[in-house]
Amino acid sequence: MTTNAELQARRAAAVPRGVASAHPVFAARAENAELWDVEGKRYIDFGGGIAVLNTGHRHPKVMAAVAAQLEQFTHTCFQVSPYESYIELAERLNVLAPINGPAKTIFFTTGAEALENAIKIARAASGRSGVITFAGGYHGRTMLTMAMTGKVLPYKKKFAPLPAEIYHVPFPHEPFGVTVEDSLRAIDMLFRADIEPDRTAAIVLEPVQGEGGFIPASTELLQALRKLCDKHGILLIADEVQTAFARTGKMFGIEHSGVKPDIMTVAKSLAGGFPLSGVIGRADIMDAAEPGGLGGTYAGSPIACAAALAVLDVIEEEKLIERANHIGAMMKSRLEAISLRNNTIPIAAIRGPGAMVAFDIVTTRGTNEPDADTTKRVLTKAREHGLILLSCGVYGNAVRLLVPLTASDELIDEGLDVLELALAA
Ligand code: PMP
Repeated sequence: MTTNAELQARRAAAVPRGVASAHPVFAARAENAELWDVEGKRYIDFGGGIAVLNTGHRHPKVMAAVAAQLEQFTHTCFQVSPYESYIELAERLNVLAPINGPAKTIFFTTGAEALENAIKIARAASGRSGVITFAGGYHGRTMLTMAMTGKVLPYKKKFAPLPAEIYHVPFPHEPFGVTVEDSLRAIDMLFRADIEPDRTAAIVLEPVQGEGGFIPASTELLQALRKLCDKHGILLIADEVQTAFARTGKMFGIEHSGVKPDIMTVAKSLAGGFPLSGVIGRADIMDAAEPGGLGGTYAGSPIACAAALAVLDVIEEEKLIERANHIGAMMKSRLEAISLRNNTIPIAAIRGPGAMVAFDIVTTRGTNEPDADTTKRVLTKAREHGLILLSCGVYGNAVRLLVPLTASDELIDEGLDVLELALAA
């Protein structure tokens, strides 16, 4: 039997350390919300491949759609011989997305690629160059998206120079002492100090900051940004890579606010484990780039498009939006009960819409003082007891729960039992 330790040693020798893994657990197989490692040990998966598995590992409908596609063709390149599944998926997303008026969608492969292309489209449509993003936001690791990401460590260290024309402003979050007014004032200051509004192409933000710690953008912020964008002809881009496809208890995270963005980026759970991303936007904006200016060899892979069509069916048929709200309520009530006990590691700030749930591990009960070291220990202990957890947050002390929305209540309860055990003082 191959062991995790053997593979860890081979990994260290063959793979650069720049790609870090949360757990030294090598996957052998996975099913819905469970995963087995190469040693045969079973884990409950509260990581969901970082928000990719809202419909679980190997959903039977997704597997069947992919199997059927494999019998037809695996690749033609959409720019050479296009295919119906790409068009059908675009049509369905154009109807689902909360965009004002007619929408169009283009597909890519990764989340970062979607963000890159959203900026290309916004620049082509506006004839402007500047991009405003938020501190703590995460948009990817490619050259442009690394610059857009609002966190230096570990994402930007050693990789300068970064692309120009990207500006960061503080993200409103009460515990950090930043109000919506502070953020708006920072944008106003930016317009005076660095870039004029009519050179600004887009403001980009996540409806709930994901890697930044599951911090929701308030309706007040989103409405104010919409107003500001309308005033200056700036495009509002919602990065829904982590928030979309039922996770937050709505199809898209921004729907909680009622604010309509001009462009949205999607990826992760769109294709249930297959690499696919998309940019959805107002049709007039999306048509701004010249033919041939957008695309990619694998962009909108037919296998991934087939998977995504099945994912959209599963979300509807299995009522995963309602399920997200149910799972979120279940998790939050368990976490609230844990937070009231005095014989556990102190936790605080239980939060998140729908099943996009997180909490902080803090040094002292009743404070917001982050404790990243204890967070690491809790993740390790949970893993040893068979639960895969992920952390996030600017201070590395947020634990995020991204269980597949297809997991049963029993399995989620079992996972929460392990979490409770891992939090025992
Ligand atoms: N945007 C957001 C909001 C994300 O959470 C991520 C990935 N964590 C990305 C963009 C980048 O996606 P990818 O890793 O597929 O490039």
